[in-house]
Amino acid sequence: MKTPTIDLSECTSCEACTTACPHIFRMHGAGYVEVIDQPGYDEACVNLAIRTCPAACISWTEV
Ligand code: SF4
Repeated sequence: MKTPTIDLSECTSCEACTTACPHIFRMHGAGYVEVIDQPGYDEACVNLAIRTCPAACISWTEV
């Protein structure tokens, strides 16, 4: 299954992804962005987040 992955070493916590896809990305209470576990992901929205992430740190991972 394809899963969105965030490279937290590059992420600036700008929240563009959580704004674009709040059903996929959320801000963890500890202050970093995480992917919400789900059986399948909205590919169009993840691809939008990948295109708009200013740090280019979102990618697909095949698991
Ligand atoms: S859009 Fe990119 S840099 Fe911004 S919070 Fe999401 S993963 Fe981090």
